[in-house]
Amino acid sequence: MKNLLKVILLVVAFATLSFVSSNKETITVVIDAGHGGHDFGANHEEHFEKDLVTSISKKIVAMNSDKNIEILFTRDDDQFLGLSERTNYINKVKPDLVISLHVNKNKNASTNGFEIYVSDQSVAYKKSSELAQKLVTGLEKNTPLQNRGVKLAPFWILKKSEVPSLVLELGFLSNENDRKYITSEDGQSKISQAIIDFIATLN
Ligand SMILES: [Zn+2]
Repeated sequence: MKNLLKVILLVVAFATLSFVSSNKETITVVIDAGHGGHDFGANHEEHFEKDLVTSISKKIVAMNSDKNIEILFTRDDDQFLGLSERTNYINKVKPDLVISLHVNKNKNASTNGFEIYVSDQSVAYKKSSELAQKLVTGLEKNTPLQNRGVKLAPFWILKKSEVPSLVLELGFLSNENDRKYITSEDGQSKISQAIIDFIATLN
């Protein structure tokens, strides 16, 4: 009798476990590395925005160990992609979230920090704003960069993507501290980890 009870308990335990694991949904995120090819984006001396965001995109995938998180790219090499090519891909894949990565530049070298843009013309404006707030909080906690907050902009990628989407400006190439951080191996790893940790909270 005791053994039978043990067997029943084991069966119940396994059934519960398999139910829990099959119930965990896969999160799909498209990372959109801005610019590419002949479009270099912002630059400072030998540092180019298109290369920095490609490098961080690759780090995000390499550092992701969660099998329930699927990360896709609009581009993973140095090619030019038009804006509608990006949103056509996004609307075909229909991910849970799009993060478009960029770095900033300003005439004023003291301007610094990261910021996230969302669009109030997006069908997913409410969810995008909620997620943007969560991500700026995560980046503020896990990097030394200054939080410039969540802002509105009518960017194509934000307006035309039919899913929650964010444009993340990672920092200013024109600011010495930001530049040192976003061009360093360690800084890029910390940024990537903060993004992965944020994505994991979507499930
Ligand atoms: Zn850009």
